[in-house]
Amino acid sequence: MPRHRRAPHVHKFGGASLADSAAVRHAVEIIRSHRREPTVVVVSAMAGVTDALLTVAHEAGTGDERSLAALIGQLRTRHEEAARALLPAGAGRSEMLSHIRESFEELEALASGLRKLRELTPRISDAVISRGERLSARLMAAALESAGAKAQYVDALDLIHTDGAFGQAAPDFPATDRAAQRTLNPILNRGAVPVVPGFLGAASSGEVATLGRGGSDLTATLLARAVGARRVSLWKDVPGLLTADPRVVPDARVIPQLHAREAAELAYYGAKVLHPRALIPLAGRRIPIYVRPFEDPTSPGTEVSEAVAPGRVPVKALTAAGGQALITVTGNGMLGVPGIAARTFAALHGRKISVSLISQASSEHSICFSVPEALATDARDSLMLEFQGEIARREIDGVEVSPGMATVAVVGLGMHGTPGVAAGVFGALAAGNLNVVAIAQGSSELNISVVVSAADAADAQRRIHAAFRLSRIAGGSVIRPEQMEVVLLGFGQIGRALATLLGRVNRPALSLRVAAVIDRSGFVFDPEGISARRLSALASEKRKGRRLADLPRGHPATAVDAVSHIAGYALTRPVLVDLTADDTSAALEQALTHGMDLVLANKRPLADRQTVSNALWQTARARGRRILHEATVGAGLPIIDTYHKLVESGDRVHRIEGLLSGTLGYVLSEVSTGIPFSRAIRSAMAKGYTEPDPRDDLSGIDVARKALILARLLGFQGELKQTAVESLVPRWARSLPLSDFLARLEELDPMWQRRIEAARRQAAVLRYVASVSASEIAVGVQAVPSTSPLAAIKGSDNQLVFVTDRYKANPLVITGPGAGAEVTAAGVLNDILRLAGGS
Ligand code: ADP
Ligand code: ASP
Ligand code: MG
Repeated sequence: MPRHRRAPHVHKFGGASLADSAAVRHAVEIIRSHRREPTVVVVSAMAGVTDALLTVAHEAGTGDERSLAALIGQLRTRHEEAARALLPAGAGRSEMLSHIRESFEELEALASGLRKLRELTPRISDAVISRGERLSARLMAAALESAGAKAQYVDALDLIHTDGAFGQAAPDFPATDRAAQRTLNPILNRGAVPVVPGFLGAASSGEVATLGRGGSDLTATLLARAVGARRVSLWKDVPGLLTADPRVVPDARVIPQLHAREAAELAYYGAKVLHPRALIPLAGRRIPIYVRPFEDPTSPGTEVSEAVAPGRVPVKALTAAGGQALITVTGNGMLGVPGIAARTFAALHGRKISVSLISQASSEHSICFSVPEALATDARDSLMLEFQGEIARREIDGVEVSPGMATVAVVGLGMHGTPGVAAGVFGALAAGNLNVVAIAQGSSELNISVVVSAADAADAQRRIHAAFRLSRIAGGSVIRPEQMEVVLLGFGQIGRALATLLGRVNRPALSLRVAAVIDRSGFVFDPEGISARRLSALASEKRKGRRLADLPRGHPATAVDAVSHIAGYALTRPVLVDLTADDTSAALEQALTHGMDLVLANKRPLADRQTVSNALWQTARARGRRILHEATVGAGLPIIDTYHKLVESGDRVHRIEGLLSGTLGYVLSEVSTGIPFSRAIRSAMAKGYTEPDPRDDLSGIDVARKALILARLLGFQGELKQTAVESLVPRWARSLPLSDFLARLEELDPMWQRRIEAARRQAAVLRYVASVSASEIAVGVQAVPSTSPLAAIKGSDNQLVFVTDRYKANPLVITGPGAGAEVTAAGVLNDILRLAGGS
């Protein structure tokens, strides 16, 4: 029983994380931040060192002497540089440098021995590579000490006892438990951190025997078991254990929690993130393992433990092992003959060949299984020998070897009893025309494995990953951000405001770029994304009145031609954002047919003739594209969204009414307080609330368009022409030049004064109200009771009232700023983010 009070935390730093002295320093910081709990540290060799040492071992017998010396020299320099960077000049550093020197002198001696022997045994190979872990552990211990933490290097041979199978040693649990407790507990009790080289164990002869590639994971769990750890953190160069190997499946995601059996299955079937036997020492112990990102120590990574519930999803992850050969034993004489399978596997066992997948046709006509390719010939020979008699009697046809195979394993405890998982796997492969050579499903139903040709393995993994939507259902953070390209149609005030907002979006899971800007003259396009600097330069040129076509790398084109040019590039997820006030329907059709989604602030296309707006919706449906248009009504206010949410939740919207024009709202609320109409217009112009010609607002056509868009949502089948719209511009003023109109504004005041007075006598105020239902649209000035919610709206705010089945007596009201470049851009941005999905 350990005497220290709290159970320790075992940290293992993987090789990929330990690239150089900066990385070692970062690891030191991680350890120091956990210093309040007893800590055990296990380290791998620095990145690439094990591979380099193996090269030394292999080439010592055959390679050229000079290049070998150079390789050894490089490795030595790399360690010396790290030592100099990490340790201040003094006794500690000199001691470290002399360890390094001795280690490489010993390596040179081993190499020259190998040159004479010309035979590399696993025993010597282990002796060669063991220095990688030993040196990095010594470096780590010294770096901890020099950072002020108490640390002590403990050699693995004093802790880990094994069966002595060089290159692939299996640990002896009881002996390791005893030795590790005896050695580590006193160190922990005095508050120091033992730092242990991973990957290495002791043979009974006392020589070093390695635990197999990736063996440091196993060292960590062995020590965790021995000291009764609270948890194990495996610090790696990935954000956690992922749904698939990120090098093969780019949209692999972190799995937040994984049952130990699932993790073991993945490791065993080739997931190169955990040593295949790393989970065995912790079986039955409640010690969770965390696979954590070295780059981001605050992130939780993946928890692997026996306490994790299977979860609802059938498949959690997949993995593949390449370099497999499929061996098939076939014969009519096998039917009903007992012992063929047993003899097959006994023969393989006799040659120490491990079989990873077995399948036997129920006709018992054949048994097939996969083995590592390098062992295929050996396996075949052993079976030919075993079944010599049967082959001679033609009871067994022979033993067939198909090399170049890969096993793809699909893993998840949740597939137990879930029908259709195998069908999903095969469906995904069939859709890609990928041939399945063999399949196996364990009776545990934790794993379905398929053998495919190695050339198909990557494609197979991506297809299965997509078919089970593993990038979504396993949750967790995203490995590679989703990418979306924004094509801005219109680069005026709103476009420029949006460009700024896009630059500030902070969603780690999403990379948004403006790929193109289009104006009436032409476009500027960069499939890699236009940089923020360039966008702001373009914006300032536009402000000065220049046209995009005339700017550097600008192309003259119509909007339609610009869209088809841009659509010719392989963009990931292009979205066309229409911020114009033009008739753009042709360009929008073009965008939809080329696979772009649409976000509209432009009201015109949807308020155009029914044939035009219906055609857009139809094209979108036919092409599987989406059109979002929140900003066409109420700028950034969630009006369209609210409508959809009500309907989706089973409500019925009868009527929507309210104030839809910030400009008219402002003018009429000023007028209602007694300010003359002409003055209200002039101040609205000065505040920038109106179009350059205020008659564009006063005509009511803009409100009518918004009303029509809302009415069409409710099912209205009609045209703008049929809409009753009250214009606030008297007939005589409609065709005057702007300056004449402005000069004569005062002529309108007496009429407005009279209207206001009449309203006041009825305790009412004037508002420009739109009211829509599925059957009618009315847009115009109304005298609304001063007690009504509409009367309370001041300034340029919008207010919308929904009357629905559910919200009848007490309608649902949405109020807020309904105009302005900033809020409109924000509404557009929301739609873009909604298209991106996730959060
Ligand atoms: P360590 O540095 O601890 O030895 P490894 O290199 O052994 O770490 O394991 C991490 C590597 O495993 C990652 O870089 C990744 O490429 C690979 N890998 C394969 N499958 C997965 C998976 N399902 N999840 C995470 N990483 C994986
Ligand atoms: N350094 C060893 C290897 O590269 C062990 C490990 O990293 O876990 O396999
Ligand atoms: Mg590893």
